[in-house]
Amino acid sequence: MDLLDTLTAKGLRGDVPTREEALAVLATTDDELLDVVAAAGKVRRRWFGRRVKLNYLVNLKSGLCPEDCNYCSQRLGSKAEILKYTWLKPDQAAEAARAGVAGGAKRVCLVASGRGPTDRDIDRVTDTMAAIQEADPEVEICVCLGLLSDNQAERLKAAGADAYNHNLNTSEKTYGDITTTHTYADRVDTVKKAHGAGLSACSGLIAGMGESDEDLVDVVFALRELGSDSVPVNFLIPFEGTPLAKEWNLTPQRCLRILAMVRFVNPDTEVRIAGGREVHLRSMQPLGLHLANSIFLGDYLTSEGQAGQTDLDMIKDAGFEVEGAGEATLPRHRADVAAASSAASACGTAASACGSGGGCGPCGGHAHAPEAAPAPEAADALTATATAIEASGDELRSDLVKVRLRGAGTELAPNA
Ligand code: SF4
Repeated sequence: MDLLDTLTAKGLRGDVPTREEALAVLATTDDELLDVVAAAGKVRRRWFGRRVKLNYLVNLKSGLCPEDCNYCSQRLGSKAEILKYTWLKPDQAAEAARAGVAGGAKRVCLVASGRGPTDRDIDRVTDTMAAIQEADPEVEICVCLGLLSDNQAERLKAAGADAYNHNLNTSEKTYGDITTTHTYADRVDTVKKAHGAGLSACSGLIAGMGESDEDLVDVVFALRELGSDSVPVNFLIPFEGTPLAKEWNLTPQRCLRILAMVRFVNPDTEVRIAGGREVHLRSMQPLGLHLANSIFLGDYLTSEGQAGQTDLDMIKDAGFEVEGAGEATLPRHRADVAAASSAASACGTAASACGSGGGCGPCGGHAHAPEAAPAPEAADALTATATAIEASGDELRSDLVKVRLRGAGTELAPNA
């Protein structure tokens, strides 16, 4: 297939395909799928070998967000029965992070719901990072707090953060269809602020919200142009109680084509399978490892993932290995670019426009939490399952979306 030969050759050189080539990947048939995976897999192995980076989510503050992101279980007016709690204390967050690191995670992702942090929130996160780094000095820390105001990224960098996550989620053209309380430009501004402060930029997308192939290609090329070092690919988790609860329009094959397209456009960038991996790839998850070089271990912000040990077994069974703390994730030339960006920012070229708008954005949802955790029996009773219909077969999938009711914000052991 000429297309795949061309894309493989470009990817092995680190070159980016054309828009038309990226669209053509999304248009391939199921008969061609394994050839697509094999071609993108060569590119993945060229830059990342057989390593899989594990990341661990700690939901610092869950639910009751004033923003209205349609995909999010924590949005304004969400009826999803998720955990809801205010800021975890530093020692609580550090305990949750330790579980993830003990399970093999190299990066801990500290996430809080909301439009964006106050300066007091930055103080809280600074204390939390100190508590985590005291126990695990080598752990990478990525922070996700929504839209940043001036100098907040610099403060996070000075406090020891390695990266900042803020997803673009979808194309500029359709952004207003999924959120009205902030804009695509607000999100771009925050990614630039993070990058400008010398933080590694982690920014990705959500597929399955009803977008077109053109929208997906638009956002993936925008992320490449923004210089995102890590691209999380979320597959919409249609939570009951959110406006997108009925959007079951992904199949495992479609997810693999999207991951392959993202890999071809970002040959030498960390590509992470994020929220929705278990829900939409299901038994095809191992094939996703041939495309992405990074996943989350265990649970997501507001939804359950598969058991952490199952993640580890899957990686091993598929012939991959967990990336160690001492191993570089990015290829050397990309790491050099990141370092140069960091050095250039040391003179303090903070972005001009004042940060407004906000929101984090990966995965599931969170909540505003009761101080006390639900008892195990109550947790079972509460385990809400979202009933939905998969477009590919009108099949009820009430078994697929489970609200997270363990780990951070509860007294139950985390899944790691
Ligand atoms: S994605 Fe972030 S900003 Fe948007 S509703 Fe959810 S928590 Fe709020």
